Amino acid sequence: VVEATVVYNKQVHHRFEVIVLLYDITEAWTVEQMQLNFVSNASHELRTPITAISGFAETLMNGAKNDPDKLDEFLSIIQKESRKLVRLADDILSISRTQSDDEQSLQISDCELAALGQEEIDLLHRGIQLHQVTVSNKIPKDVTVQTDSQQLGQIIKNLVANGIRYNHPHGQVTLSYAETNNRWQLIVEDDGIGIAADEQHKVFERFYRVSSNKSGELISGTGLGLPIVAESVKNLGGEIRLNSEVGKGSKFILTFPKTWHPNTEI
Ligand code: ADP
Repeated sequence: VVEATVVYNKQVHHRFEVIVLLYDITEAWTVEQMQLNFVSNASHELRTPITAISGFAETLMNGAKNDPDKLDEFLSIIQKESRKLVRLADDILSISRTQSDDEQSLQISDCELAALGQEEIDLLHRGIQLHQVTVSNKIPKDVTVQTDSQQLGQIIKNLVANGIRYNHPHGQVTLSYAETNNRWQLIVEDDGIGIAADEQHKVFERFYRVSSNKSGELISGTGLGLPIVAESVKNLGGEIRLNSEVGKGSKFILTFPKTWHPNTEI
């Protein structure tokens, strides 16, 4: 995208002399476009539960509250949609926070990886019970990494939660660790429903969710979990790869530099 400005324009006898400055504004334009898309997508996603809540509340007030079955059913829909709204608000907040995180606001310290992973797994106990999935923490106890433990905790939480939700009963989710010379890896693997090859890059786009007919029963979500993960991994100087096969499972491989310093490129 180019912006042009005429800085000099003069007629000399039968000729025109013109100086035009051309600016490459592609980057600014793309960022602005992305922000506009984000706001419009977010508004749409917020409207859907709000419309349901106000619609069902109105129907109740117009008389449906006198039918005990309808009262129960509509109240539980209102509760479900309200929870969706809270999750959406939390995720929107998280994504704007990770986006504005610069190097100064990262809190890098030595972090015991197995303990951090276990804390996040323990917080997911309700989902683990509900989906009847086993989560194994195979990170060796003595591993210490230099990172922002709050951001890495959120990364682990989102990936493990997805491994639990997009899985079958009695499925497995495994958290493991690997290292090479100057990098370390965190691997979150599941034997769940998997992601088709043509969807694998799209799942990192904001609000993108694999359509229900492909992933079986539609599991509720915001489509912001993986974009938050991708943004945080980038903030921590790392990169993320996804290997997945429909019906077999998914493997998210996160690679980070061993020694953290600003602007680390790996
Ligand atoms: P959400 O789970 O809230 O929809 P995410 O950004 O976390 O949002 O994930 C985007 C989509 O990617 C999900 O809707 C789901 O279709 C797919 N997905 C994410 N993780 C997995 C996984 N471990 N296995 C299968 N599909 C997944």
